[in-house]
Amino acid sequence: MRIDVDYGLCESNGVCAGIIPEVFQLGDDDQLTVVRAEVTQRTEGPVREAVRQCPRQAITVVD
Ligand code: SF4
Repeated sequence: MRIDVDYGLCESNGVCAGIIPEVFQLGDDDQLTVVRAEVTQRTEGPVREAVRQCPRQAITVVD
């Protein structure tokens, strides 16, 4: 499974980065980067929480 972010929807508010910063990071330019797109057993829980909490519904997990 991999993380897909719709950057057209993302408003770089950092909600996802606050939940799991090892996967989502906001750069100095306020641009969101997915630093670990592959979802692992360890990251799946918080990644799915980020999907739920993203106020723009910009994150999806794809097979
Ligand atoms: S929570 Fe959603 S809108 Fe906010 S930075 Fe992450 S992907 Fe973008």
